[in-house]
Amino acid sequence: MSTISSKLHNVGATIKAAAQAAGRAPDSVRLLAVSKTFGPEAVLEAMKAGQRAFGENYLQEALDKIEAVAQAAPGVALEWHFIGPIQSNKTRPIATHFAWVHTVERLKIAQRLSEQRPAGMGPLNICLQVNISGEETKSGVTEADLPALARQVAGLPNLRLRGLMAIPEPEEDPDKQHAPFRRMRELLEQLRGEGLELDTLSMGMSGDMAAAVAEGATIVRVGSAIFGARNYNKVKE
Ligand SMILES: *Cc1c(COP(=O)(O)O)cnc(C)c1O
Repeated sequence: MSTISSKLHNVGATIKAAAQAAGRAPDSVRLLAVSKTFGPEAVLEAMKAGQRAFGENYLQEALDKIEAVAQAAPGVALEWHFIGPIQSNKTRPIATHFAWVHTVERLKIAQRLSEQRPAGMGPLNICLQVNISGEETKSGVTEADLPALARQVAGLPNLRLRGLMAIPEPEEDPDKQHAPFRRMRELLEQLRGEGLELDTLSMGMSGDMAAAVAEGATIVRVGSAIFGARNYNKVKE
């Protein structure tokens, strides 16, 4: 039987083995369970197995789910991460209902999130999404524009710039998965060299989490390996 709980366990074991093979402490990598397209019951099941951090891409779906889970499990503190494309007219609910945003790629969005972060919630944790495979259609800031954006976002009052995020081109050959992740680590090191205090590399998904961990991922975002195949028909954006 392959339940969410047993799949979570397997993903945890994969991460741990990859970390140890790279000489890293297993607890230096956090697992973000990506629950998009799955209902509150899937989140509750993962929660019962000990998972606390969840990633969502579609705002309306996420808000409904956050509310439903809070009602079903009052008193359990979950950490919600927004990992989808951000429209500028949707920044307020994102600033209000999430602890992290991984997909900031423009200063204007960061400024709105900072202005709209409710007082008393503490800073919103931010990763800048980098267009690491360099395709024109992909989201993310270019490597050339990254340093300036990082400096500007780091200066915003209600945000805490934590690091970088990327979704490389899908690559099935595990040996070829490493290069973009290695480049991400170099980019993070460069920004640190400029004095920015960054501690996060959000990279690696179901198909490439081991390569990402080998290259220094501190958050892996894993969906289908935990919850199964997705059905997008019912998604509410
Ligand atoms: C859907 C998604 C994931 C999870 O992908 P899987 O291949 O199902 O693990 C991770 N990151 C982002 C940004 C996503 O949109």
